[in-house]
Amino acid sequence: MPTIVQKYGGTSVEGAERIKNVARRIVAAHDAGNKVVVVVSAMGDSTDELLKMAHQISAAPPERELDMLLSTGERVSVALLAMAIHELGRTAISLSGNQAGIQTNTVHTRARITGVETGRLIEELESGKIVLVAGFQGVSPDEDVTTLGRGGSDTTAVALAAALGAGQCEIYTDVEGVYTADPGIVPDARRLASVSYGEMLEMAATGAEVLMLRSVEYAQKYGVPLHVRSSFSGDPGTCIREEDEEMEKAVVSAVTYTSDESKLTLLRVPDRPGVAATVFGALAEADVNVDTIIQNVSEQGTTDISFTVNQTDLPGAQKALQAIAGDLGVAFLIDNDMGKVSIVGAGMKSYPGVAAKMFGTLAAAGVNIEMISTSSIKISCVIKRGQVKKAVQALHEAFGLGNTV
Ligand code: ADP
Ligand code: ASP
Ligand code: MG
Repeated sequence: MPTIVQKYGGTSVEGAERIKNVARRIVAAHDAGNKVVVVVSAMGDSTDELLKMAHQISAAPPERELDMLLSTGERVSVALLAMAIHELGRTAISLSGNQAGIQTNTVHTRARITGVETGRLIEELESGKIVLVAGFQGVSPDEDVTTLGRGGSDTTAVALAAALGAGQCEIYTDVEGVYTADPGIVPDARRLASVSYGEMLEMAATGAEVLMLRSVEYAQKYGVPLHVRSSFSGDPGTCIREEDEEMEKAVVSAVTYTSDESKLTLLRVPDRPGVAATVFGALAEADVNVDTIIQNVSEQGTTDISFTVNQTDLPGAQKALQAIAGDLGVAFLIDNDMGKVSIVGAGMKSYPGVAAKMFGTLAAAGVNIEMISTSSIKISCVIKRGQVKKAVQALHEAFGLGNTV
């Protein structure tokens, strides 16, 4: 009997009617002769609501306690879903991440899965039950509850599919698959039938929140094909797998964006070996994830260095820079009003002129580019937050990605 792993996101289980709808879909997969493992997210905005409550009580809640709190959202969902399946006359059991054997490291609020102890899962499946696992959480070697970072239920699902040798991992969400751009801001965005792991990694890393970046890394590492589909329809969705000859290698497959970047600029940094290492070493020490970096031409022995971080990392970055600015004799500026637009496509490797077309399109839309970074299949531009939507729409149009072409 084949094993399948399905994951349902927060919008898909928001409220009793949607939970009942998901229960019917799960029962259909079970009745078709599969061993079914289902990972579920917290209902709707409940993770955000729990976070808000924590911040009403403390400006800096202890991360261990945040994990205890946030992990409850997913537990509510699995328990209710188990009840809905029982109502349909099938047997299901809900498990917390810990009970499901999801082991992680000790880094609270963004733990990494280190292994899956499958004994209990296999036992429950062998006894004919549908197994429901609370997403986004695990247990550390200290036996504390950990969570995996925002969107982490995707990673739970992939880890379970890999550990159980499931043929694929189905990610059910509130859109019909992976699109050429966020359908929330580009109305004529088109669903992509298939996307390579490489492209999906770049898309997730540059803001396409339909899949958590780490889930794609995990899927590629363990060779788990992903199938992103809608929980509300039977449409074919998007397959994410190793690049092959049949895959359409579009020059540009998708436009992505983020709206929560902060830019920090260090002024008059001494231009000598070791200074950049000191600055970025201090940021790494503070666990700050640095994104785009540019260093200007040196003038009179000093240079300016700018870099971006996610807004959530800004307080940590500020603190780290304050600690070293005195010794280095530098000042720094903060611009907390940035975003980033990116174009991603496996075909751009061998196609000149893509960057020029991107920059020309942004110029024509009146968008000033503040920073640029590239990989072999991606070009990103840091721009003002207020211009992100306009930039995404212009690029989507210029590269002919819409439904109307
Ligand atoms: P879930 O709760 O199911 O995990 P998410 O909100 O995390 O769902 O992800 C789905 C959302 O991702 C969509 O509603 C859509 O607005 C957004 N999104 C951003 N970029 C893309 C894209 N390129 N393709 C599809 N969805 C995207
Ligand atoms: N509930 C968590 C979040 O909102 C995890 C998830 O939905 O995947 O980020
Ligand atoms: Mg998600």
